[in-house]
Amino acid sequence: MNDNSTIDLPVFEGGWVWLVGAGPGEPGLLTLLAHHALRSADAIVYDALVDPRILKLARPGARLEYAGKRGGKPSAKQPNISGRLIQLARRKLRVLRLKGGDPFVFGRGGEEALALVAAGIPFRLVPGITAAIGGLAYAGIPVTHRDTNAAVTFVTGHAAGGDVPDDVDWTALSRGAPVLVIYMALKHIDRIAARLIAAGRPGTEPVAIVSKAATPDQRVLETTLDSCAADATAHHIEPPALIVVGETVRLRAGLDWIGALSGRVLDADPLRNRHRRKSV
Ligand code: SAH
Repeated sequence: MNDNSTIDLPVFEGGWVWLVGAGPGEPGLLTLLAHHALRSADAIVYDALVDPRILKLARPGARLEYAGKRGGKPSAKQPNISGRLIQLARRKLRVLRLKGGDPFVFGRGGEEALALVAAGIPFRLVPGITAAIGGLAYAGIPVTHRDTNAAVTFVTGHAAGGDVPDDVDWTALSRGAPVLVIYMALKHIDRIAARLIAAGRPGTEPVAIVSKAATPDQRVLETTLDSCAADATAHHIEPPALIVVGETVRLRAGLDWIGALSGRVLDADPLRNRHRRKSV
């Protein structure tokens, strides 16, 4: 029997793979299922974006295997990672595949899960807080806000081959997406900004670059489409980073709650200049 203070969590059985999102950084943003999986797993296969503080929560004696991929650095190949998960599961271990953010958001979780299906390995999927949601919350930028945007678009700025993705219609996005949150965009920030401007977005449009969100090294740079590429270089912004394009970025002046912890005075009406401009 369960009283109100406990939650029934599923048993992590040997021979299973749990594909789990670890969120953007801060361990407190883990789900209860992710925490349970960390405390139970025999083998944890994690990628580069998983915060080291989270790995410390692993059950003592668990085997930790790095399967990171970071642009430019040697990284495990995707079939190898799936093969490794299958191999560990066939040894009847409880296998935790831990990924940054959410496994299904630009995380290849679908590919790994399909490999498990093909191999007949049972699996569970545990969503995590994706960087665009959690990272922006930590930057004090709402992904939607009634006065700025009724839609938000998550898009990758980096194709599998390493280039700006060709299958993204930047012109259509530029016209139809009031707020863009671009993952993996730092490398191509100059080309992405140029494409958006060429397709009609004003160069003065607010942009935020959110680096290492929800970690002790979080940095947020407020800039504009015209200046974002030069500013990213000048301020030595490091990946992982998100680029946010849109009016919602202005709300940070009122909602930078982390800045407020170190004395930033928040503006309760951060959109007022914009409203004034609209009404004249
Ligand atoms: N599955 C992950 C995304 C993997 S793609 C998720 O749901 O969040 C990797 C990209 O995610 C990075 O290039 C960066 O754009 C973004 N990202 C992940 N963690 C981040 C963090 N803590 N701060 C800023 N960006 C992050």
